[in-house]
This record gives sequence, structure tokens and C-alpha cells, in this order.
Amino acid sequence: MNSFNQSTLWLAESPLVPYIEAYKKYFIQESYSSKTIKSYFHCIAHFAHWVTQSNLDILHINEATIEEFINGHLLECTCTNSYLSVRIMHAALIHLIRILNDNGITTSSCRKVTPTDEELQAYDNYMNHVKGLAQKTRRQYLRITERLLSEKFSETPVIISAIKPEDVRQFINRQKKRYSTSGNFSVLITALRGYFRYRTTCGDQVNHLIGVANYPANWQLSSLPKALNNEEVECLLETLDNNRASDRKTKAIVHCALDLGLL
Ligand SMILES: [Zn+2]
Repeated sequence: MNSFNQSTLWLAESPLVPYIEAYKKYFIQESYSSKTIKSYFHCIAHFAHWVTQSNLDILHINEATIEEFINGHLLECTCTNSYLSVRIMHAALIHLIRILNDNGITTSSCRKVTPTDEELQAYDNYMNHVKGLAQKTRRQYLRITERLLSEKFSETPVIISAIKPEDVRQFINRQKKRYSTSGNFSVLITALRGYFRYRTTCGDQVNHLIGVANYPANWQLSSLPKALNNEEVECLLETLDNNRASDRKTKAIVHCALDLGLL
């Protein structure tokens, strides 16, 4: 089934179906491009499918529901192979809430765009257009960066010089429990380093912050060093078995190394 048919089916099965015409009409009236309307249509269909599967009451759809969908479901979504950016998803769903409000279906208020939202959008554009990262990767990095920025700035302007190395260190320590393996944990570090590097391109001095975000040691990839067997040790000592001063010195070093288990 192609994505358009799948979206149509998801909408037809969902409790949002009576409001889809009003949704389309809104975008046509606002002169949105057909490409944007199509993207939003797929976003709403995916959201509608999740609402149906989760047995949610559309009377109570609000910002928190959107957050749950984007930050929860989308991270582990297996219902579709086509992904749209978090930014587009968020925009499409905010419009949906507005339309449901306008039609008297819900009464939730739309959260205004915060400085952190704007910062994340700029970072997403950089990852997309400069780094060429995949949507799934960008979504993962944005979630981590959002947690860092939200903790520090809440709804106040994002000022990078206000982030201290200790803030980053404590953030990493708090986030550690979310990750079960060093591989997963590396994603956190990669995301933070990526964000700080992005800020470098904006002219910020953040090397001291990058230095705090270190990758965990991956000891399981290391193996014990090979040691000499008894025969090899005897051969080595025999080659040094004479009275030259330099050999006596070397022999002493070799004995020390052998006694300490270094050979
Ligand atoms: Zn899904």
C-alpha cells in the first residue's frame, strides 16, 4: 500500500475523520502550498492512527498529547517507513489543535513558540542542509539537545555562554540512567558534541563544553595483551646472557618487566 492510501485509511478509521475537511479547508484558505498540505496530511494521518490505536479521546487532545506522540511514539514507531521531520510534525499537529479548538471540539490552548523551539529549529536546519543527516538521526539529536536547553533556559532566550562545563557534566550524569549500553550512551555524547560544534559555526567559543562531553570507554573491544611463553622468555634471556654492561642493564630491565607481568 502506498503512503497516500495508507494515510487515507488511517484517517478513515480514526475519530478525527469528521474534522479533516475543515483541516484541508483551513490550509487552502491560508494559501499553503499543495506540497505542505500533503506533508501535513500524512502527519495528521499518522497521528490519527496512533490516537486510534491508543484509544485516546479526541476531546482531550492537547499539547501534552502531541508531545507524547512526538517524543514517545515517533522514537519507536514501526507503523510506517516514511518519516517527516519533528518540526513538520509539530507544526501540523499544532494546526490540528487550533482547528479542533475553532470547531469547539477541544478547548486546549496552544503553547507559544519558545526561544528553545527556535534554537532547535535552526539546529535542525543545520543538520539537515549542512550535515545532511537523516531525519531519524536528527530527531534523536534534537530530543537530547532539547532536554539540555529546556533544563537550562526553560522559556528564556538561549544564551550559550551561560552554559558552563559543570552544567554539561551534570546533565550527562542525570541522563546516564536512560541508556543501558555504552553504544546507546554514545548517542547522547554525539548529539551534545554535534550541537556544540553547530554553535561553533555560529561564532561561539564552546571548546570547553565539547571537552566535557567525552565518549565512554568501550573496554569490551579490548583483549588481553599477548604474553611470551616460557620458551620465548628463556630465549630472550639467553640472548642477554653475557657480561657486556649494556646487556646487563637490558637484562635487569627485562627481569623487572617479567616480574611485573609486563612481558
Ligand atoms: Zn507510528
